[in-house]
Amino acid sequence: MKVSVDFDQCEANGICVGIAPDVFELDDEDQLHIRTADVPEDRLSDVETAVAQCPKAALRLQ
Ligand code: SF4
Repeated sequence: MKVSVDFDQCEANGICVGIAPDVFELDDEDQLHIRTADVPEDRLSDVETAVAQCPKAALRLQ
């Protein structure tokens, strides 16, 4: 599974970073980066939670 972000929707509130900081990261300029686009099997649960809880629906898992 791969996770991606729609940067037009992301408001950099960091919710996904709080849930899975090994997958999502905010830089000093509040730009979101995906550290691990290919989601390891053992991280899938947290990434699914992050996708579901993103208030901007900016994350996609496919
Ligand atoms: S939770 Fe959604 S809006 Fe917030 S930083 Fe992550 S992708 Fe962006």
